[in-house]
Amino acid sequence: MPRKKLKDANNVSLNITSQIKDTILTDIEIDPVALQYLPSPSEKIIRLNENPDPIGDNIYSPVAGIVNRHTDRVLLKITDTCSVYCRFCFRKEMVGKGAGILSKKEIDTAFNYIATHTEISEIIFSGGDPLTLSNKRLQNLISRLETIDHLKIIRFHTRVPMVNPNRIDTGFINIINQCSKAFYLVLHVNHEQEINAPISGMLDKLSRTPAVLLSQSVLLKNINDNITALENLFRALINNRVKPYYLHHPDLAPGTGHFRVSIKKGQQLMSVLRERVSGLCLPTYVLDIPGGFGKIPIDARYIESLDNNAYLLKDHKGQRHTYDDTQASDSSE
Ligand SMILES: *Cc1c(COP(=O)(O)O)cnc(C)c1O
Ligand code: SF4
Repeated sequence: MPRKKLKDANNVSLNITSQIKDTILTDIEIDPVALQYLPSPSEKIIRLNENPDPIGDNIYSPVAGIVNRHTDRVLLKITDTCSVYCRFCFRKEMVGKGAGILSKKEIDTAFNYIATHTEISEIIFSGGDPLTLSNKRLQNLISRLETIDHLKIIRFHTRVPMVNPNRIDTGFINIINQCSKAFYLVLHVNHEQEINAPISGMLDKLSRTPAVLLSQSVLLKNINDNITALENLFRALINNRVKPYYLHHPDLAPGTGHFRVSIKKGQQLMSVLRERVSGLCLPTYVLDIPGGFGKIPIDARYIESLDNNAYLLKDHKGQRHTYDDTQASDSSE
């Protein structure tokens, strides 16, 4: 198939990386990588259920940059910059709007918030993308976090390594190697095509550090909403020592309806996968409840409660089995 030059509707070249260009293998109108970045006229269609703050970040933001929805962990939106702009982005209304990195004062306030809330054991760097920051800046932030005793885990959610594998340079590898806290790296990847040789090389480097490697993907119409695409993606990830963590049902960000599949379809895909692939391959299929109520698993239900402490369990073929739970003895709390 002919390759078209990547231009948007106004004939402007898209800001995409050479890594992305290398992973676009078919016509850009149908290519599962190109479709993630290509503007579509459908983006102008704002559906009634869509919302600029689709997962309710704002109501749980006590200080600039921090989202504290759960007692033990906070999200820190350190920057609004990404190295690419995904058309289905759930933080579309915030990302790339020019605010840049939090100011020194805002960072001080955010870190002070974490330091004074001793119940917080985990910080999740999100954005924007934390890996658009320089190693020097990251090292500085991490060194400050290392002085907070009750903080045990530093987690990065990032798309940068997948679109610019060279960003995982010696400097960044050293940061992970020297970090005294548990370090988790959650990579955003949606299609097997994104995992080519340079990406495998980069993942190999990362897998030799103490960082735990996880992935998150978004279930996207015409991109990965079929068994083969999901199976190949998750297999490629575990082969590269990355454990699929979450498969997100797309959030209700404005103008993203053309990416949205039904929950029913998502559940069907997950139950077929459950039978086909290793448990290692399986992410949890989650939905962020609109309004800020958090993420919940929305996998098809396999279990139904009956009377008399019995359960009805459904296997992959749809056959039902009863399970007697009367012999269990729960300890009282
Ligand atoms: C997604 C999210 C987290 C992380 O949730 P996990 O289930 O721990 O991955 C934390 N805080 C906020 C506000 C989130 O949206
Ligand atoms: S990398 Fe993440 S935050 Fe950035 S545009 Fe894509 S989905 Fe949005």
